[in-house]
Amino acid sequence: MSESIVRRSSPPDSASNPVTPPLQPSAVYSSTDPDELDAQYEGRLHGYTYAREGHPNADSLAETLSWLEGAEHPGVVTSSGMAAIGAVLLRLLERGSHVVGGDQLYGRSHHMLTVDLPRLGFEATLADPTDVIAVEAAIRPNTAAILVETVSNPTLRVADLDGLAAVAERHDLQLIVDNTFTTPRMFRPFAHGADVVIHSVTKLLAGHSDLTLGFVAGREKAITDAIRETVVTWGLTPSPFDCWLAERGLHTFELRYDRAEGTATALADALADCESVEAVFYPGRDDHPDRARAAALFGDRTGTIVSIRLAGGREAANAFVRAASPVRFAPTLGDVSTMLSHPASSSHRRLSEDQRTTSGITEGFLRISVGIEDPDFLIPHLVAAAETSTA
Ligand code: PLP
Repeated sequence: MSESIVRRSSPPDSASNPVTPPLQPSAVYSSTDPDELDAQYEGRLHGYTYAREGHPNADSLAETLSWLEGAEHPGVVTSSGMAAIGAVLLRLLERGSHVVGGDQLYGRSHHMLTVDLPRLGFEATLADPTDVIAVEAAIRPNTAAILVETVSNPTLRVADLDGLAAVAERHDLQLIVDNTFTTPRMFRPFAHGADVVIHSVTKLLAGHSDLTLGFVAGREKAITDAIRETVVTWGLTPSPFDCWLAERGLHTFELRYDRAEGTATALADALADCESVEAVFYPGRDDHPDRARAAALFGDRTGTIVSIRLAGGREAANAFVRAASPVRFAPTLGDVSTMLSHPASSSHRRLSEDQRTTSGITEGFLRISVGIEDPDFLIPHLVAAAETSTA
């Protein structure tokens, strides 16, 4: 046995400590004996057993994200944003439960509510999250939760979160808020009555398009613990490497966010002056339908995403994204580089044309996730691309 190289090594001794958190890819952890394992499972000793049940890189990331969100108890990191949403709904809904969802959710969340939940015996109704009366009217005796995005993807409508929190409290429902677009830099849902906060960490928080992760935290510890159980049971746990990368990305999150937001504000105004741009959607602009609510909820913050509707439909969208190269056309947001996406052919392609038209997602609709490039390059470049779209 002493000749074997199998599983012999342990970390070399060092009087000094690593400055960055170590990456710990171990899928399993050894203990001294069954008594020690009992102590761990019973919470008398802290330790890890099996990576699906939890690992140091996930815990360390969860701690930072929970602090950023102002969560009172550490939340749970999941393998993707959709894993977080799935775990929350699986846990909070009972057989026959009903959920009211925002009618402008990310395409896969919309699909989960309207296709997967009904298949599993849950019910869902979609309602306009900017209209509290509409949401309250959708509540039924079996409603358990309301799920909304703070700022909707991709139309950037601002949910009436204070109003929704009052409705949730009146009807004893869980208010679940997907804070992906806004991030805690712009808005902290727990301070406005949210019961559960969700993120796609894949996006702005991690910021480099090199991992897929989600996060969920509950206002109450019991809810977070229950969701954690579901995450572990359904195998929605994240990879240590992704968590490690996300933690590294988070160090620059605030700098990236502030830079991108400044550029987005200027870009929105510049695009609004283009003839080929029929409409600009940006919560910082006075022509945004929810401008007053955005100011009340977000203060000076206005976001890093700008959406536009080009006059020329699909043809104009094709021309714009071709002319915008080297700015990438890719279906994500929150990267250090600016990314263009065309929701009708990507995130929202599973919606029927009628559903897309009702949500304002036409063929000429583009979403611009602003990165940290030099604004003096980016803004004129995208304005020129927009002008090309009508040439
Ligand atoms: N929530 C929002 C608002 C999103 O935009 C996305 C993805 O784009 C998700 C959730 C899903 O996140 P993920 O891709 O990490 O599963």
